[in-house]
Amino acid sequence: MRTGAALAGLLCGTMACAQNPAAKNAPLAPFVKVKADTIVLEHVRVIDGTGAPAKEDQRIVIENGKIANVFGGMGNQLFPANTEHIDLTGKTVFPGLVGMHEHLFYPLPDGGSGLLPLYGEMADSAPRLYLAGGVTAARTAGSLEPYTDISVKQAIDEGKIPGPKLFLTGPYLEGAPAIGPQLHTLTGPDDAARTVDYWSAEGMTSFKAYMHITPEELKAAIDHAHEHSIKVTGHLCSVGFKEAASLGIDNLEHGLVVDTEFYSQKKEGACPGQHPPQAELAKLDVEGPEIQGTIRDLIAHHVAVTSTLAIFESFVPNRPPMNEEMRVRSSLLPDAWGSYVTTRASIAEHAADATWTTLLKTEMQFERDFVKQGGLLMAGCDPTGYGGVLPGFGDQRNLELLVEAGFTPEEAIHIATENGAQWLGEDSRIGTIAMGKAADLVVVDGNPAAHIADVEKVDTVFKDGVGYDPQKLIESVHGLVGLR
Ligand SMILES: [Zn+2]
Repeated sequence: MRTGAALAGLLCGTMACAQNPAAKNAPLAPFVKVKADTIVLEHVRVIDGTGAPAKEDQRIVIENGKIANVFGGMGNQLFPANTEHIDLTGKTVFPGLVGMHEHLFYPLPDGGSGLLPLYGEMADSAPRLYLAGGVTAARTAGSLEPYTDISVKQAIDEGKIPGPKLFLTGPYLEGAPAIGPQLHTLTGPDDAARTVDYWSAEGMTSFKAYMHITPEELKAAIDHAHEHSIKVTGHLCSVGFKEAASLGIDNLEHGLVVDTEFYSQKKEGACPGQHPPQAELAKLDVEGPEIQGTIRDLIAHHVAVTSTLAIFESFVPNRPPMNEEMRVRSSLLPDAWGSYVTTRASIAEHAADATWTTLLKTEMQFERDFVKQGGLLMAGCDPTGYGGVLPGFGDQRNLELLVEAGFTPEEAIHIATENGAQWLGEDSRIGTIAMGKAADLVVVDGNPAAHIADVEKVDTVFKDGVGYDPQKLIESVHGLVGLR
């Protein structure tokens, strides 16, 4: 009989039903490594998420899921008898990542000629891999199975499955022709407004406009979302960045490389495809007046940009280095791995005419300039494309690429933590290591401030003061990415 459980699910509010994650038989117990009312992290290097330089030999006190204190030296503080003290000498702690482009789906293995390109909902693997990779808060940036996303969020909040704090984005707001069969095609501004109203009522807290939306549909969507105090982001093509800013959009995904407004053949309200504009963009000077003008305009309109360098890198021949990909191989369904390496090889074969080698550099320069002038840059992994960029792993790779772009490790971590929290309006709760905030913390071996790749060496991920074992989370979904 399932009626009883279903009814209980309906009757109890999220918080009232939350389970103690380490209690006997609690579903999260197999993944929990540290659980105590009071936990003291000793002798740890702290990168606090504000962009400030790393501090050596700090002590972090966690009480009832929150950061109660952070200070240098040992002091003479008294703690309750059952306090758990953990010596983290040689390790570093930074805030849980606030991922801003974190879909719960992934491309299904290539089905062959004549079959539709489909994405599968990774309701089992994605939340675990995000958490294992240090992502403790995630905006989903466009949904293909909105009711599954809602159920997954509820299950995480109720302590039934492991995963990050999810900030759900509604179904894509896509015009005609929709880029895939899993997207709804808007029929006009009324439909855009109706879609936003409906999914806001269902609990979505942001929306993403997509490549073929018309300016009129985008305007209606933004106005209705703002009426619900909900923000709108976009991966646009039919609408240029400055036009979107003037319509009131709050965020643009991916950055300059998807901006079509500089394309010589651009027609009002129509997407010219991705490749022709990108071929022209690769020849533009980021320091020139056109792009600098766009940067100033976005900043003046308070439009944030989400950096997704990891997915862009996957289109560059022979990148990322194969050792990066070997980290994710065991998480993938063998067919999904096969699809990835086949496409990767064909990109490598056409290396001579690869625009993406230039575009990745262009994008990095744009992001640096955008931040230098005061723009709010955030980060997300976007586990799409042709595969190979996985939840959690991709977010770590993004940090490395932000450093390659010229940011300091501390700045890169700030972009991937506090900035996202600020956009979400959650910065009083999450995003930095500060007294009173949730104890959402990533402990890694080594020192990312000196060697950013150390962000991959995750030892423990704390969410609300509960320490999870990344290896156990990863092993629990071995071979499942691309399937479920
Ligand atoms: Zn996306």
